[in-house]
Parts: sequence; structure tokens; C-alpha cells
Amino acid sequence: MNVHEYQGKEILRKYGVKVPNGKVAFTVEEAVEAAKELGSSVVVVKAQIHAGGRGKAGGVKVAKNLDEVRTYASEILGKTLVTHQTGPEGKEVKRLLIEEGCDIKKEYYVGLVLDRATSRVVLMASEEGGTEIEEVAEATPEKIFKEEIDPVLGLMPYQARRIAFQINIPKELINQAVKFMMGLYTAYIEKDCSIAEINPLVVTGDGQVIALDAKLNFDENALYRQKDVLEYRDLEEEDPKEIEASKYDLSYISLNGNIGCMVNGAGLAMATMDIVKHYSGDPANFLDVGGGATAEKVTEAFKIILSDPNVKGIFVNIFGGIMKCDVIATGVVEAAKQVGLQVPLVVRLEGTNVDLGKQILNESGLNIIAAESMADGAERIVSLVK
Ligand code: ADP
Ligand code: MG
Repeated sequence: MNVHEYQGKEILRKYGVKVPNGKVAFTVEEAVEAAKELGSSVVVVKAQIHAGGRGKAGGVKVAKNLDEVRTYASEILGKTLVTHQTGPEGKEVKRLLIEEGCDIKKEYYVGLVLDRATSRVVLMASEEGGTEIEEVAEATPEKIFKEEIDPVLGLMPYQARRIAFQINIPKELINQAVKFMMGLYTAYIEKDCSIAEINPLVVTGDGQVIALDAKLNFDENALYRQKDVLEYRDLEEEDPKEIEASKYDLSYISLNGNIGCMVNGAGLAMATMDIVKHYSGDPANFLDVGGGATAEKVTEAFKIILSDPNVKGIFVNIFGGIMKCDVIATGVVEAAKQVGLQVPLVVRLEGTNVDLGKQILNESGLNIIAAESMADGAERIVSLVK
């Protein structure tokens, strides 16, 4: 789960990580009021959306007086920002962060991520701050430094110090930078983060080490014990299809392709996406209806898949282990009738009562194609959407 920059900064502040003073604003008036209260001569008006790259897209503006705050706030609020992280449709700005302007001497990058290969949290840093870390990794990988963190010991001060030296933090500020990284790590662990990215971390003219941006991402499996983090959830930033799916306990992730996939079991769902790709198709989603897929769940899943205008065909790939194939076939037929299915539907069933299941599909009178195998199904749906 993502949170907004200002929320991430609220969390970090509690862990002793320095961030500029700032206030959230939902209207232009609130923005001007916030700037007055901050009382600093320069304030920054920052779009709050769940995506980075706002600066380049015109979502971060430096205002030198209250009139400028008003101008920028009315410009940015309600605007749809398109950044490399929003997708082409962009994201509408509904909140602003009004923040003290900071006298930046140099920008750095510091991030904590979970490395799934080693099952460890890794501290990553670079003196090339402000730009995307992916670009730095591409162009000058030697400028990225990493420390693998032992889960029992946690981040050790010597590791943070080594990183601080490697990225050339000024000598007199090394201790501050170490304190910063230690605080960031404690927040990451205690709040069950999966990403904590500070880009940029800056050194200021008056010798402070501050987080100017904060991107925190939280492990959804741990939200049950992070009630305060859950409070920060902003449903308006999430895909409505994914919210709907979570109501029915369906694991749904929307993707960019045009073949809707409905599968039971996450492993089979991954394999289905792979095989669709193998036949040069493009999945519109990942959807795991789970082991005990009822007719109701299947119907909801169909509705969610079809609410995506990009979907030009559906591939159902279900293994009838716990559930029998004839029950699934009945559910699929019912759902197809209920939603008034217009696009081609290919169904591959395997498992208990498979023949009976196929018979139900074939005799439904609907335009449903029963596939012989997973490969056969993938090949057919790909050619049907073309
Ligand atoms: P994004 O990563 O989405 O573009 P950032 O928060 O990193 O957004 O802001 C982009 C740039 O704007 C920063 O790299 C920094 O140069 C500048 N900036 C952001 N916040 C402030 C601030 N409070 N004071 C001065 N400059 C800022
Ligand atoms: Mg940034």
C-alpha cells in the first residue's frame, strides 16, 4: 500500500528523520493559509499523488510569496499530472503539500528495499540524487552503493557511516547522515515497509541533512497490525477495479494488455500470463479467484474483468481440484449470461469431472470455446483478439 509524501514524512518525523515543516491542503484557500502559518519566505507547492516524477511534470513549484502560492495552488489542484509512474492516463491532483522551501546544497539518494533474492533489506545510496535511481543504475552503476542488512543485527552504524562516506556526504555531516539512515531503517522495520525511498535527501546551506521527498510503501500482509498506517489509505488513488476485487476476496491486479484472465491459484495465474505472452498476447490483468471459487465469485470476477474497456477477450483457466469442473462450468455459463458477455471467451478446464464440465460449456448455447489444454487455450484467445 502506498501513502502520500506528506503522510510518509509524518511517519518519518516520529523516527527522528528530519523533514521540512509542511502542511497538507485540499483547497487553494487552505494552501494560502498553510503558507501563512509556515511563515517561511519561500514555500514549495507540491502535488500529492501516489506517483513520483512530479517535479518534471510541473507538480512541484517554488513560491516566493503568498500570491505565487495562490497561483501555483490553483494551477496544480485539479490538474491531471502525467509522469512516467502514472501511466498515460495520469493522476488528478486532489491534495497539496505546502512545505518550507529548502536551501539545497546537494541532492543525494537513499533507499531501503527488500532484496527477495537474499531475503534481506538492502540500504542503497548514491550521490546522484534527484534523478531516477533506475537511470543512475543504467548510466553510472558504479555510483550506487549498497549495504545488505543482517535481520538479527539490524542496520549497524558502521554500515550507515560507510555509505555516508561512499556517497561523499561532507565530513562534518557524517554523524547527522548516520542518524538519518538509522532512523529511516527503524521506521522501515517497525512500520512493515517494503520500500522507503528518499529522493532527494539533501544537505542544506546551513548544514542539515533533510528528506525532501519520501516514498513509503507498506507490506499489505502486515496492515492488520499497522492500524495507523491503514488510516492513511487513500482509496481515490487506487484502481477502482482492485478495490472492488478486494471486497470479494479476489486477488486482482490490472495490467496493460487486452486479454482478461480468470484463474484459480496464484501459481497458475502467473503461468497463464506467461503462456499468453508466449503466444504474443498481452494479459489485461492478473486475477486469482482462489481455491473455493463460487458462482458468485466467478460472476463478480467477470464483471471486474469486463469493466476494463481494454479487454477484447477472456481466458478462463481453472484447475478443478477442490471444486469440480462441472460446478465451475455452470458458474462460468451463469456469469456469462448474467453479464451479457460480448467478447470471445475461451475456457480451459482440467481436473475432476472435466468431461462433464466441457459438455456444459459446449451445450450452453453461448459463444464459449472449450480449450483442450492450457497452450491450446492461450493460442486460441490470442488469435481471437487479433
Ligand atoms: P518528485 O520526485 O515526484 O519529482 P520531489 O519531492 O523529489 O518530487 O521534488 C522534486 C524536486 O523539487 C526535488 O528534487 C527538489 O529539487 C525540489 N524540492 C522538493 N521539495 C522542496 C523543498 N521543500 N524545498 C526546495 N526544493 C524542493
Ligand atoms: Mg523525488
